[in-house]
Amino acid sequence: MKYAGVIVDLSGGRLDKVFTYRIPPALREQIAVGMQVEVPFGQGNRQIDAYVIELADTCSYDDSQIKEISCVSQKGVAVESQLIQLAGWMKEEYGSSMLQALKTVLPVRKSVSPLRRRRVRLCLEGAERDRFLAALSPKRQAGQLRLLTALSKEGELAYETVTGKLHIAPSTLRALETKGVIAVEEENPYRNPINGLKQNEQATVLNLDQKQIVEAVCADDKSGVHGTYLIRGVTGSGKTEVYMAILAHVLASGRQAIVLIPEIALTYQTVMRFYRRFGDKVSILNSRLSQGERYDQFIRAKKGEIQIMVGPRSALFTPFTHLGLIIIDEEHEGSYKSEQSPRYHAVRVARKRAAMAGASVVLGSATPSVDSFYRCQRGEYRLFTLNRRAVKEAQLPAVEIVDLRKELEAGNKSILSRRLAELLKDRLQKGEQSLLFLNRRGYAGFLSCRSCGKAVKCPHCDVSLTLHRGGRMICHYCGHEEAVPRRCPSCGSGYIAGFGIGTQKVEAMVAEQFPGARILRMDADTTAAKGGHEAILSAFADEQADILIGTQMIVKGHDFPKVTLAGILAADLSLHGSSYESSERTFQLLTQAAGRAGRGKLAGQVVIQTYSPEHYSIQMAASQNYEGFYQEELPYRQMLHYPPVYAMMTLLFSSKDEQAAWRAARAVENLVDRYIGRFRKAGRKEPEMIGPCDAPVSKISDIYRKTLYIKHMDRRVLITIKNGLESLAPWEEERAGVSVQYDMQ
Ligand code: ADP
Ligand code: ZN
Ligand code: ZN
Repeated sequence: MKYAGVIVDLSGGRLDKVFTYRIPPALREQIAVGMQVEVPFGQGNRQIDAYVIELADTCSYDDSQIKEISCVSQKGVAVESQLIQLAGWMKEEYGSSMLQALKTVLPVRKSVSPLRRRRVRLCLEGAERDRFLAALSPKRQAGQLRLLTALSKEGELAYETVTGKLHIAPSTLRALETKGVIAVEEENPYRNPINGLKQNEQATVLNLDQKQIVEAVCADDKSGVHGTYLIRGVTGSGKTEVYMAILAHVLASGRQAIVLIPEIALTYQTVMRFYRRFGDKVSILNSRLSQGERYDQFIRAKKGEIQIMVGPRSALFTPFTHLGLIIIDEEHEGSYKSEQSPRYHAVRVARKRAAMAGASVVLGSATPSVDSFYRCQRGEYRLFTLNRRAVKEAQLPAVEIVDLRKELEAGNKSILSRRLAELLKDRLQKGEQSLLFLNRRGYAGFLSCRSCGKAVKCPHCDVSLTLHRGGRMICHYCGHEEAVPRRCPSCGSGYIAGFGIGTQKVEAMVAEQFPGARILRMDADTTAAKGGHEAILSAFADEQADILIGTQMIVKGHDFPKVTLAGILAADLSLHGSSYESSERTFQLLTQAAGRAGRGKLAGQVVIQTYSPEHYSIQMAASQNYEGFYQEELPYRQMLHYPPVYAMMTLLFSSKDEQAAWRAARAVENLVDRYIGRFRKAGRKEPEMIGPCDAPVSKISDIYRKTLYIKHMDRRVLITIKNGLESLAPWEEERAGVSVQYDMQ
């Protein structure tokens, strides 16, 4: 390669400013993407540092105008080099522009003033706190009692939660603050929230199973083997304790670690466990941080001020200079896949980054992804299993499956089966709590015509409008809103009626069947307000309600010791999705939902209602049998050539002009056909193609979407095809006005 594109400013703002330099012949063998070089810059040809982000053989400028790279920087390999190299890999693997990839991996400096946030903290501890609480009159000082009870559980709360959900007047807060009972503090997102409380708490004594995992991973690490490890263990089996022991080992050797946790599971309790154990060495990234604050955290990491970064997907790009370990908890979670270009998966990118840095990767889950388990079977990952809950008293719940078809036969039209209704009644009588779980908001009540059978659709998107309270119909893709029509828009018939059930409807029906019950509902509507999520969960944990109704949000990472019954209302809704992963997602959701009951001292019961009681996803979730599920699922993936057995590339063509989208898709179809022909001639295993066809959602906001799937055993074949397509030329004409996205699985 004769030319190199370099960037000189890495702080995000000017990442798109690429300068071309000639590579002197002596350096041509050596220069690679990510490398730090010195170049003459500007009028005075001042020598400055630059990073190589692309290489080319030709150049569109006059060669005599181009300056030459002076030398490779002697400063040693900067972590930025590694991150840029990683960006180059992501661009290649996932099909994005280099700029998009760079923006993903390099922290962006933005000078925005931090949002003003206040927290309310309890200043009393132990006996002092108990005395103060006991002295409060439940009648006259109900507000104070409510606040202090919540605070003794949480330690501290957001100011908005206190004044909003808890309805505490600012005057009450001031009075308590004057007395020194609470403190209202400006939140400093970097502040260790347990300053002053005990830190570096004693490590838990690990049981034998846990110890074996820690010893195996650490022994590998000491001998320079940096593998990928998967810990399969039910929630509560002690995975987090294992992570912390391995973290301690890595920190002791002067290296750093990244811990990925899905945003939804980044609860106060989880975060506190890391702070208690590692104190100031930990920093947390979450969506409440502004861009500028995130940048500051990354700078602190680079300077060595922190050793552990805990956060969701993007924490993966923390610029640690001596990275020794990446932990990914709940590794099966969908949120580890980016929905923006580059559409990367955190587990794969973590393995790549770890390989570059000489670090190990530890994955953990109760229901590992089929992909990860498959890699264990093939020896790519090492598998460890934690079969029992670490604390004995917590028992696994008893699960029953109810066939909804039989309910209808018996004349029961309620959404609650007779069995579930009976158990709910029992819990209400005993004063115990229940969870009712409805998977997928998208299936919530839509309107359909009884005469022609058509559902009322969004005029801009290929989805049904969802019925909301107050007679409004809303599109969950583009936000389009309209009143409920009197007549069917397709055939004019007056027989249109609600179909399917949403959380609102469930709430109304349960309230009707159990008039005395206190019910809370948690879904995307009730949690839309900031902090709505936490407010509902803490109200339920405070036993302000008997029944919590919700979507997948309620099954993640929360412990309610008083919940002894979980009802899954329609287990098969997510089975009929259009993705090859529907069964896997269903199994994971049901297993986790079932695991919600009986987390405390009381034994739990679970009822799974379904129209497909014989489906293996439902059967295996009911018996919490992960391997049983895997044994059923893998042959199906093998037979139909789906990941993880095959690699799959999905191309999405979108355009305002439907014909243009078709033309682009067909052009690619023809090009891929040529590849297939070439493979056939050479006697090699050919790539397989499905489509082009409408995407599962064929229109969003008036943009038409077509899709094409290409599969092959060897991922590199797909990457070659993608690179061929990206080099525009063969289908430049058909491509105009069409956006093309690649998704690699
Ligand atoms: P997971 O991450 O698998 O959900 P945790 O590590 O959170 O499991 O452990 C669940 C509970 O059991 C926690 O309260 C933890 O402190 C406790 N625990 C874990 N391991 C032990 C152990 N070896 N001895 C005592 N308690 C333990
Ligand atoms: Zn719409
Ligand atoms: Zn009709």
